[in-house]
Amino acid sequence: MKPLMSAIDNLPPLREVIATHQLSAKKSLGQNFLLDLNLTAKIARQAGDLTECDVLEIGPGPGGLTRGLLSEGARRVLAIEKDARCLPALEQIAAAYPGQLQVINGDALEIDPLEHLTPPIRIAANLPYNVGTELLVRWLTPQQWPPFWQSLTLMFQREVAERIVAQPGSKAYGRLAILAQWRADAKIAVSLPPEAFTPPPKVSSAVVHLTALPEPRYPADAATLSRVVAAAFNQRRKMLRASLKGVAPNIEDHLAVAGIPPTERAEQVSLEAFCALARSLKPLE
Ligand code: SAM
Repeated sequence: MKPLMSAIDNLPPLREVIATHQLSAKKSLGQNFLLDLNLTAKIARQAGDLTECDVLEIGPGPGGLTRGLLSEGARRVLAIEKDARCLPALEQIAAAYPGQLQVINGDALEIDPLEHLTPPIRIAANLPYNVGTELLVRWLTPQQWPPFWQSLTLMFQREVAERIVAQPGSKAYGRLAILAQWRADAKIAVSLPPEAFTPPPKVSSAVVHLTALPEPRYPADAATLSRVVAAAFNQRRKMLRASLKGVAPNIEDHLAVAGIPPTERAEQVSLEAFCALARSLKPLE
């Protein structure tokens, strides 16, 4: 249960924090900050009930979303930030929420956060887009399923967000949609115009919320599904009998078993049908 009243943190407004600590945005680190605490609280609310959860936040920057997560009642936040200039601002937040915020200065792509977290765990982040996509793919492809996290609440470029939630028959439908929707429920939770950020990026953004399914939506061997989907979408304009020729010599037989016409193109094939094809290629024990 969320406490009735959020902590009265007495922290200064984020514009002041940025001025005090001279946090001029660095392009190389993809720094587009969210300074509106109503907005960061709204994003934090999309992450679900945080009161019983540890939250992993990647790229807290000056701490707008961090403050949202804590004011929305997160049990604990572990924040990994690459830019050491942000640490004093984050220490101020840690002082306002004693024992609830741990900050690690480092690269999220190189740090294993698990030794610092206690389940249940949710992940929330407003990250540079390239790092965000790489982490999303990692979080969706662990050795074991279910994964260590319950949900992911992540900011993406609008176009990437659309690729994550895309349905068959749309241009955005591809590997990312299949990867995400095979093992998670995915939805766009909040849309944001460039002006929501300081400085504003060139494109619109969206927060995607993914909830881990207890097991994959349809049975399939992960490596086989990934191989088939990669081959199919690498040549997305070709018919599957051509694009999947290299996957198996008798691919037309496997397509028939899966109920997919050999003349179909990848864009039209449902996740369920791709999983049936993967099972025909590699039956599950
Ligand atoms: N969360 C803050 C907000 O919403 O205002 C900052 C968002 S800004 C888009 C991205 C943040 O991620 C920056 O603070 C940047 O320094 C940090 N960052 C970039 N690459 C990172 C990485 N590999 N590991 C950890 N943090 C990273």
